[in-house]
Amino acid sequence: MELVKQKILFLDRDGTICYDDGAFGSEKFPYREVIEKTRPIEGVKESLRYAKEKGYMLVVISNQAGIAKGRFDECDTHYSNKILQEKLDGLIDGFYYCPHHTSGKNNNGKISANAKMNLIFHCDCRKPEIGMFVQCENDLKNGTLQYIDERMINEKTAYEEDRSKIYRKSVVPAMVDKDNSYMIGDKWLDVLSGERYGVNPIFVMSGEGEVEYKEKRDKQKVLPTKYEVFNDINQFIRERL
Ligand SMILES: [Mg+2]
Ligand SMILES: [Zn+2]
Repeated sequence: MELVKQKILFLDRDGTICYDDGAFGSEKFPYREVIEKTRPIEGVKESLRYAKEKGYMLVVISNQAGIAKGRFDECDTHYSNKILQEKLDGLIDGFYYCPHHTSGKNNNGKISANAKMNLIFHCDCRKPEIGMFVQCENDLKNGTLQYIDERMINEKTAYEEDRSKIYRKSVVPAMVDKDNSYMIGDKWLDVLSGERYGVNPIFVMSGEGEVEYKEKRDKQKVLPTKYEVFNDINQFIRERL
């Protein structure tokens, strides 16, 4: 049987759909209190609801290198996604994240004492690699999407080395309609990952976007070739969908 085609908005998280100044921009503890401050950027809930009404599935594709660096753990990421999802009225269909980092170094150039050495390597999921997209595509064909895992939040169970154990929720099996799908993010690696995967890449100036776009452009080893730029995801959704 031929699977139906599903158009998807692949969404970067921090700086694109939620503010980057909460749990993941902070060194403060306890994390649970900081995480509870996670909140969507103004207007994003309404915009994402509109996108859903237009038939898009919404999937978060997020680098969470803070897990490898030992700044927070995988369970914190699920808790943060849960808080965000509640504030978005449950609009997000799937959550994918990469817990790895290539060097494990913090901004000060040092690897912290509680870094997770088993998560520090060149993985195939950290954007601009496309592993998270491929995982989502395969899951969707099988009628599932990776989702918030309550066991990880309540029992602090982590599945760092066996990602297949992370909770998946049931959806209608489908193929990704790449021509009509988008990857939206505030960093070059977001845009590049979307282009490499074969969906339409969108650069947004929210979050770190403005600095990234102007000041970090020349430092990129590889730049995407074809993309559109918007002030934020609200403008993109209003003008393109
Ligand atoms: Mg971001
Ligand atoms: Zn990874």
